[in-house]
Amino acid sequence: MELGVFLSQELLPRILHGIQFEATRYAMGTLTLFVGVWLILSHFIQFRKIRARSPRKAQMWMELKNSMRTILVFVAMDIVVFDNSVTGLFKIYDDVSLFGWGYFWLSIPMVLFIHDTYFYWTHRAMHHPKLFKFFHLTHHRSHNPTPFTAYSFAPGEAIVEYMFVPVAFMLIPIHHSAMYIVLTIMIFKNAMGHCGYELMPTSWARIPVLGWLTTVTHHDMHHEKANGNYALYFTFWDRLMGTEHKDYFDRLDAIAFKTKTRNQTEVLEPAE
Ligand SMILES: [Zn+2]
Ligand SMILES: [Zn+2]
Repeated sequence: MELGVFLSQELLPRILHGIQFEATRYAMGTLTLFVGVWLILSHFIQFRKIRARSPRKAQMWMELKNSMRTILVFVAMDIVVFDNSVTGLFKIYDDVSLFGWGYFWLSIPMVLFIHDTYFYWTHRAMHHPKLFKFFHLTHHRSHNPTPFTAYSFAPGEAIVEYMFVPVAFMLIPIHHSAMYIVLTIMIFKNAMGHCGYELMPTSWARIPVLGWLTTVTHHDMHHEKANGNYALYFTFWDRLMGTEHKDYFDRLDAIAFKTKTRNQTEVLEPAE
């Protein structure tokens, strides 16, 4: 095919479709949290605000700019990885009857666990002094995160975050729709973890199994201290590897206390 025809009829529509998909996913997750929590609920849940100070508008613009670049990296990676893959390398399937509905639903928590493991270890690696500046500093410029911090990555980190998708597809069979469900959970959990308001029931942290779910405070403390609490969905890896912050429960107790008393006094804001 002639290069000009290939670019205009194949590559350009592919790029535009990719941008539309990724931008919609990003907007769906981040705007739900921004509009729902920051603009509508914030007045009613002030006692659940994790920090006393609010991030500046300039930070949000920086995050949006970085997020647009992340979307472009994701689209480029999608084209490079999936449009040129060797047949049979990825275990993606379309026919549910191949593995049944039981496996379809089971594969979703399985992929989330694989993602959490991938996220924990790559995240921890990116905190290594030799890798931090190149890969992860951009994300930590948001010391006090906002929902838009979700995709605020340097290009190197965007590639690392993207690579989970092909890795998961190589490890276990995943139905297309199951992967879309995982990608939706992923962006909502990501935006929620950066939203600055504790939205989870604080009592869950001490209940077996429910305590394995990360709260907003869990990742907020990671941004505040720039270490520890590395995982995304579950507390499992942080607890096993001893990287969970020792005062995590104290922070949740403080929020529980504020929730109970509806006391607006900010007791959580550490010295910045
Ligand atoms: Zn973060
Ligand atoms: Zn980090």
